[in-house]
Parts: sequence; structure tokens; C-alpha cells
Amino acid sequence: MKAVLLIEDDDALRPLIAALLEQNGWNVLTAQDGEEGINLARMHKPDVVVCDLLMPRCNGFQVCRAIRATPDLRETKIVMISGRGYSTDKLNALEAGADEYLVKPVQAHDLREALRKLTVEGFLTGIRPPVPAPAAAGDGDVRVKFWGVRGSIASPGPATVFYGGNTSCVEVRADGEIIVLDAGTGIRPLGLSLAREFNGHPLNITLLLTHTHWDHIQGFPFFVPAYNPKNTVRILGYEGARQGLAATLGTQMESPYFPVGMKELPGNITIEEQRDMEFTVGKVRVEAMFVNHPGICVGYRLHTSSGSIVFIPDNEPFHRMRSKPGSSDARALEYAAQQDAKLVEFVRDANVLIIDSQYDRAEYESHVGWGHACVDDVADLATRAGVKQLFLFHHDPTHDDERISRMLAHARSIVAEQDKPQPIVEAAREGLEVVLAKC
Ligand SMILES: [Zn+2]
Ligand SMILES: [Zn+2]
Repeated sequence: MKAVLLIEDDDALRPLIAALLEQNGWNVLTAQDGEEGINLARMHKPDVVVCDLLMPRCNGFQVCRAIRATPDLRETKIVMISGRGYSTDKLNALEAGADEYLVKPVQAHDLREALRKLTVEGFLTGIRPPVPAPAAAGDGDVRVKFWGVRGSIASPGPATVFYGGNTSCVEVRADGEIIVLDAGTGIRPLGLSLAREFNGHPLNITLLLTHTHWDHIQGFPFFVPAYNPKNTVRILGYEGARQGLAATLGTQMESPYFPVGMKELPGNITIEEQRDMEFTVGKVRVEAMFVNHPGICVGYRLHTSSGSIVFIPDNEPFHRMRSKPGSSDARALEYAAQQDAKLVEFVRDANVLIIDSQYDRAEYESHVGWGHACVDDVADLATRAGVKQLFLFHHDPTHDDERISRMLAHARSIVAEQDKPQPIVEAAREGLEVVLAKC
């Protein structure tokens, strides 16, 4: 008989839920608070834990984290139940490693369904390493801030409020420089924020473009600092497959598409095509690498005084692409392994890796050759390369907040299985800021 541990501090509710579970064939253990629950879980290793969120001594999030940190309880499924229906509570519970989240009053049918789904279909559980407290920001610290985290097309709406719907844009403040990575729609709120912060003082910005697919350039015509003649915006990137960078960027602002032409922008805008794979922005050394994505596309590695930041928003690992059934031969697989090894070296020991993790494994099977990665490969890459912090990026526009939280929990479980130092894994979300403190 399968065992369930019910952790519920409400003396009236606990026997009712226990009776319901027993009626459905479960062997039920009960605990009155989180601490007792964790002890019983470690002692009896139940198949499922049904846990209340708000309890004295130890809340449901803590219970989830404690269970996920116990190797023997890796297969245990967790159903969180709570009187609170806030979506942030649900997302935090999923991130902490819960498999399901039900809002009280819990209907008998919903609980039965949740348990059936978890035990029959066997959801993967999320195992997370401890997340250290964020470092305090001191003078001269290097900062990374996410303004757009989505791939393909902007996807605002109630289902994407938590992670955000804007496309690729990341701001880096390092060694006296303002470096912007990509100009997806996230660059619009970044521009407004910079204009507020500098309040009329001249701005000097370097924009690094990975490639010119729409989700990486479409926000630029709405970048307010480009409209101020006091400001300097230097755009760096690589020539595309058909025409130069300046021509491609200018085309999206031509008359049929936009009312202001690129050359009419009042700011001091320069567009510099790079020929070499290494250059500098002030004191920051930048390395570039061509990645596996349709057209010309690069990833960047910024070497700052507080460590390295790697940005690879679009990339499809070679090996999984080439090893699909029926299309693989030994030489192709060897070539794929070599190319993937180069990527491991490019991201080796990075403090921050921001990388394409658009699909889960099942989705990837129907998107082979689309130029994007599956989250399993990204988690594996980050661990093999000794990355310290991994940020899943370029979220699929059809993925809602719940789906991304589940993918994050899955990535953490993969990282936790590896017999190597584990990177901290997060899903990039708009407004999230990371500080790299001086060593
Ligand atoms: Zn993209
Ligand atoms: Zn692309």
C-alpha cells in the first residue's frame, strides 16, 4: 500500500483529509507541524507528502526545501495545500520543489486527481541546491539586470506576469561601462529607466547584438536614449548572412515599418561591425563565439573585474541535433561532440551564464533544427563547465509562468544528480538583478 504523509496544523481539517486519503487506499501518516513532518518524512520515506503552506515552526516552503535536500526523498512527490490563492505563492512552491499546489478548501476530487497524476505519470521533482543570500551591492560591483527574457516574440499577459513577456535584453554595469546585451523589446523599459536615472546628463552606452532576428533588435526604435543628442550609443555586432549590420538595422526603421529612420535619430549612434572574435569595451574584454543558430549568431563572454558573464541567448547544442534517429553517422557525431566541447570551454568557470533553454525534452523532439536548446542539455553544460550561476533564458512565448517554474525545478534536479560542484540555477525574469561582488 502506498504511503502518504499529511502535514497539517489545523486540528479540525487534519482528520478530514486523512479520512479522505484512507478511503482512496492510502496508508496515512500525520504530522501537526513542519518540523515533525520533516522528521517523519526522513524516517518513513513516504511516496507522497501532502503539506500545508502556513504552519508554525516550519512553513511549507521550508518543508519542500528540506525534503528536496534529502537524497533518500528524491522520488517523493509533494502536494502543497494552502488557503492562499496568490500566484506568487504557487510559483514559489513549485520552485521550492512542490509538484502540485491546491487552494483550500481542497475538493476531494482535486486531491484525488493530483495524487493520481503524480503517482501514475510520475512527475519529475525539483531538487534545488541551497541559494545563498544575495550579496550586498558595494561601490564598483558588477551588476547584471534582466529587462527582456523571452524568445521569438513578446508575450505579455496574465500568464507571463512573473517571468515577463519582453524579448531579449540584459543590462550589464561593469568597470565604468553600461553594456546592453541585445535590443529586444526589453530595451524599451531599460531606455526609460536610464533616462530617469541620468536625468538629462549625457549617457554613454555600448549595445552588443548577438544577431538580428526580430526578438533581438525590435525594441531599438523605441530606445529613448537614442533620441537625445547628448547621448552616445555604440552598436557592435557581426555582419549577417545577406547584408551588413547597418543595413539590417536601418531596414526595420524604413518608412513602411517605422516613422523615424535610423539616420534621423538625434543621438550619436555608431554601428561597428566586428571582424575579430575579441575586442574591448573600456576595461571590459569581450570574447565572441559563433553558435549553432540559423544565420550569423554569436554568444558573448564579458571579462569584468568581478568575474565573467556569458550571454548566449540563442543556441542549439550540436549533439542532440545530430543524434536524432536515422540521421546520425559516426563522423557527424564526432564533429558535434567537438563543437559542443568548444562551447564548454567558452563558458568554462563563468560566474554567470545566461543561455537559451527554450524547450523541455519532449518539445525539443518536434523542434530539432529550429536553433534552440532543451533545458536538460543546458543544465548539463553548466555543470560540466563549472559555471557558478546559470540563468535559463529565451523562454518560449507559449510557456506560462507555471511551465517555466516546472522547467526550472527540472533543471535543478538534473544539476543535483551530477557528481560535481553544482551551479545555482534560476530562470531569468524581468527585473531580476544579480550582483557580482569584488573578489
Ligand atoms: Zn531569439
Ligand atoms: Zn534567433
